[in-house]
Amino acid sequence: MKAKELFKNKTVYSFEVFPPKSTSSVEVIYKALDQLGDLHPDFISVTFSAGGSGNSGLALDIASKVKAMGVTPVLHLPCINYTREQIDDTLAEAQSRGIDHILALRGDINPDIPPVKDFAHASDLISYLRSKGDFDIAAACYPEGHPDAESLEQDIENLKIKVDAGADHLITQLFFDNTFFWNFREKAAAKGINVPIEAGIMPVVNKKQIERMVTTCGASLPQKFVKIMQKYEHNPEALRDAGIAYAIDQIIDLAAGDVDGIHLYTMNNPYVAQKISEAVSGVISV
Ligand code: FAD
Repeated sequence: MKAKELFKNKTVYSFEVFPPKSTSSVEVIYKALDQLGDLHPDFISVTFSAGGSGNSGLALDIASKVKAMGVTPVLHLPCINYTREQIDDTLAEAQSRGIDHILALRGDINPDIPPVKDFAHASDLISYLRSKGDFDIAAACYPEGHPDAESLEQDIENLKIKVDAGADHLITQLFFDNTFFWNFREKAAAKGINVPIEAGIMPVVNKKQIERMVTTCGASLPQKFVKIMQKYEHNPEALRDAGIAYAIDQIIDLAAGDVDGIHLYTMNNPYVAQKISEAVSGVISV
């Protein structure tokens, strides 16, 4: 179903997965996908390496597996380190597999890799996708502002360029304080951004994730979140349960505020996705 139609009728509920670093873990992700598919998400998006690291070769195979399960796959496509020809090849391969829903991204700038610059911004890729054919196009947005932008206001100005270029819907970066989302949504609407905005929710359920949050994520960590993480960081089971409960609390508040959709960063963990899906099924039409 086209994204535009999907958002008309319900609170969209989607998942994100990433390709494992090693091909030896492929069976593990395929098993996880089967379990995620049983939770009936509206789509599953698959991350794609911006180049230089990661395992983007597997992304198309994973997206194909999602499609074979009867769930709509959304292929992430970061453009900054790829030539137009490489993007064309990926798009042709995606289309040949029936994958026509793309999350168009710039990708992070890696100081060790000089950008290719055939596409400097996600908006360039979005215009290109629009010129090429009938793609469903999603784009990223940042409730606390993108780290490269001078201010949230400037980032929203740039977001408007992406939407005007043809993005059908938006998915946010993770956040732990819904106040940022409400503020962002209001400012985006005031700028004339009128496509659906899905809220990206990351359940933080293990110590490695906490460390990553603190050092690299850039999202504000509210006192309530920090307190929970500090209290349970040495108790894996309690931390998992607390992380799940925190995400559920965020989702229920978002649903009560008529969010367009929830995009769950599953970290390839079907147990966590299942617990959350069970808890929120009544408040969003999962
Ligand atoms: P852009 O929209 O190009 O924005 C980047 C910066 O440029 C911002 O500061 C913006 O304000 C500014 N800007 C945007 N357009 C213009 C313009 N036309 N003129 C001037 N300035 C402009 N990365 C991956 O490598 N692989 C993934 O699979 C992946 N998945 C993601 C999924 C989601 C939901 C999100 C939120 C992020 C994901 N990322 C992924 C990370 C993303 O690639 C980085 O956040 C990257 O730094 C910015 O990508 P973007 O598409 O938002 O860039």
